[in-house]
Amino acid sequence: MAAKGEMLYAWTTDTAIAAKAECGGAVTALLKYALENKMVDAVLAIKKGQDVYDAVPTYITDPKELKDTAGSLHCGTILLSKVITKYLKGAKNKKIAITVKGCDLMGIYELAKRKEINLDNLLLIGVNCGGTVAPVKARKMIRDVFKVDPDTVHKEEIDKGQFIIEYEGGHKGIKIDELEDNGHGRRTNCRRCLYKVPRQADLACGNWGVIGEKAGKATFVEICSDKGADLINKAAKSVAIGTCPAEPKGIEMRGKVESAMLKLGEKWRKRDFTALKNNLWSIIGNETSRCIKCYSCIENCPVCSSAAVKANGKSSLMVDNGVLPPNPMFHMRRFAHISDSCINCGQCEELCAMDIPLALFSHAIRSEVDVAFEPKLGASAYKN
Ligand code: FAD
Ligand code: SF4
Ligand code: SF4
Ligand code: SF4
Repeated sequence: MAAKGEMLYAWTTDTAIAAKAECGGAVTALLKYALENKMVDAVLAIKKGQDVYDAVPTYITDPKELKDTAGSLHCGTILLSKVITKYLKGAKNKKIAITVKGCDLMGIYELAKRKEINLDNLLLIGVNCGGTVAPVKARKMIRDVFKVDPDTVHKEEIDKGQFIIEYEGGHKGIKIDELEDNGHGRRTNCRRCLYKVPRQADLACGNWGVIGEKAGKATFVEICSDKGADLINKAAKSVAIGTCPAEPKGIEMRGKVESAMLKLGEKWRKRDFTALKNNLWSIIGNETSRCIKCYSCIENCPVCSSAAVKANGKSSLMVDNGVLPPNPMFHMRRFAHISDSCINCGQCEELCAMDIPLALFSHAIRSEVDVAFEPKLGASAYKN
């Protein structure tokens, strides 16, 4: 029997899932098992829409539909936490299994702290995350740098430090470092992200560390909770998945890649935050002068709850009708109230109508607050 803390290789025994899965298909097989066996009432996952740049959140109650969600979409920048509060009543009356990246998970925890999500009703299947590329920028990068028509791409992946595309007539990979040095590649918040293996989920699944004959055919699973162990054991017993212990060498390799990714994240934090260090407030003032008050930054932020922007039941956004740009207090107030809880998910920046680098600002302010209260925690992020 597998237990919390163990690491193993797992793979689906369902050929339809295996054909579409990113690695071993264990994630989809486990979601299917949980739904079929009524461990949950529904699954929330991501599936491909029109093309590889179109990641669609999908609510599933029929296990047969789960195979459509297999595979990883690295140009899928959706955050699932607010989907749960906006459309699924905070999972307060339904048990839901969800595939989560680190930022999805952090958003869920923040909303659970605010009592907007019932964590007990969630089964959290985590996927490791090296980062995502914004869809519009991905298209531009593929056209300008890869010299490929983005509409002909049918698969993309990030592997061994490269962004790789498969398209009609071939495949091509370019090093992420090279792309990012030239202004392409992952979203800037993803570069600064230090949550690569989502260990606060019930399971943390990925491809790092799968070696030997199972390379490319199995999913690396770290069991992070008793709930996760229970799911793995039941699914293995019913032969929905196959499992074997992870190779010690594979565990070591996974640890090394994770450490290298964390160092890279620290490097980006230092680079991004140092550039702001002496002029943060004047840069914020200049950039936010383009604001058109679309309020997308509030609407999509997992820690910016509607309750927080209202006082005494009235809207208190500190803006005047018909005036653009808004009073700078609109932004200052927002930055102030999220300064202790911004999770660097990038949603505010990505969905800002005026391309204002909002996540950079809120993440820098959050890091500065961390430094003030936890000098050791924040030192490496901001002070060096
Ligand atoms: P499958 O059975 O194919 O299931 C994949 C699951 O991921 C599905 O439930 C699907 O809905 C969900 N999904 C797809 N795209 C997204 C998305 N954008 N956001 C949230 N959920 C999504 N593993 C590593 O070890 N190292 C990495 O650097 C790494 N980076 C990743 C980056 C991204 C953006 C994603 C989505 C995954 C990443 N993974 C990484 C995890 C890896 O790609 C596989 O998801 C994991 O190994 C599980 O494989 P599987 O065959 O069992 O998954
Ligand atoms: Fe992945 Fe972190 Fe970017 Fe979220 S913020 S998509 S977890 S790299
Ligand atoms: Fe995410 Fe932006 Fe909100 Fe921070 S402020 S949690 S980056 S949406
Ligand atoms: Fe202003 Fe951008 Fe926020 Fe819209 S998303 S209100 S334009 S800062």
